[in-house]
Amino acid sequence: MNFDIIILSLTILGNNFLQVDKYHAERINMVKSQITDRGISNTATINAMRKVPRHLFVPMEYVNDAYGDYPLPIGFGQTISQPYIVAYMTEVVKPTEKKKALEIGTGSGYQAAVLAEIVDTVFTIEIIPELANESAARFKQLGYNNIIGKSGDGYNGWPGHSPFDIIIVTAAANAIPKPLIDQLAENGRLVIPVGEPGAIQELMLLVKKNGKIETNRLTFVRFVPFKRSKS
Ligand code: SAH
Repeated sequence: MNFDIIILSLTILGNNFLQVDKYHAERINMVKSQITDRGISNTATINAMRKVPRHLFVPMEYVNDAYGDYPLPIGFGQTISQPYIVAYMTEVVKPTEKKKALEIGTGSGYQAAVLAEIVDTVFTIEIIPELANESAARFKQLGYNNIIGKSGDGYNGWPGHSPFDIIIVTAAANAIPKPLIDQLAENGRLVIPVGEPGAIQELMLLVKKNGKIETNRLTFVRFVPFKRSKS
C-alpha cells in the first residue's frame, strides 16, 4: 500500500468519526435541553434517548434536523414524533428489562428502538406496508433483534403474543380499542392519544390493577390519525 492510499483511508475514516461525533454531540445536547431539563427523570429512558441514533430514523433530507425539538415527516403523510413526546411516553409506561411491549404505529421505528433498548421484547404493528418494510430493514441494520414487527391494522393488537406489560399507541383514536385493553397484563400500562384526528388530543394512561382499569389524563398532544383497514 502506498502512502497516498493510507492517507486517503485515514481521511475517510476520520470524516466518518467526525460525523458520528457530530450526531453524538447533538444527541447529548438534545437529551439535556429537551428531555432532562423538562423533567424526564427515568434513567433507563434517558440512557435510551442518549443511545438511539435518531438521525438514522429520518429521511435523508431531514438528517440535519433529526435532533430538533419537533416532529418530522417520514413519508406517506406520517411523522416521527418530537423527541420529548417519545421520552415522555416511554417514561410513563415504566419500562424495565423483563417487560414485553406492544407498539401500534411503527412509523420510522424510532419509538420501538427506544423501548427496545430497555425492555425484553417489542412487538410493533404498522398499517402502511412501505413503512413497515423500511423500519424492519432499519431494525436489522442497527441490530435490534428484540423488535418483532408486522404490517397490518393494530386495532386488534397481537393476541398471539399477549398479554403485554406495556402498550404504546402512537396514532390518535377517537376511542381506545377494546382489544388493546384486553391484551394488557396485570399491572400493565397503556398510553394512547385520544381525540379527534387533526385536533388537539389528550394523552391517556391506562393501568390494569386487579383486573380493573384506572384511567389518567396526562397532557395534550397532536398525533396523526389512527386508521382502520377496510377489510
Ligand atoms: N412511533 C412512530 C410514529 C409514527 S406516526 C415513530 O417513532 O416514528 C404513527 C404511525 O401509526 C403511522 O406510521 C401510521 O401509518 C400508523 N398507524 C395509523 N393507524 C394504524 C393502525 N390502525 N395500525 C397500525 N399502525 C397505524
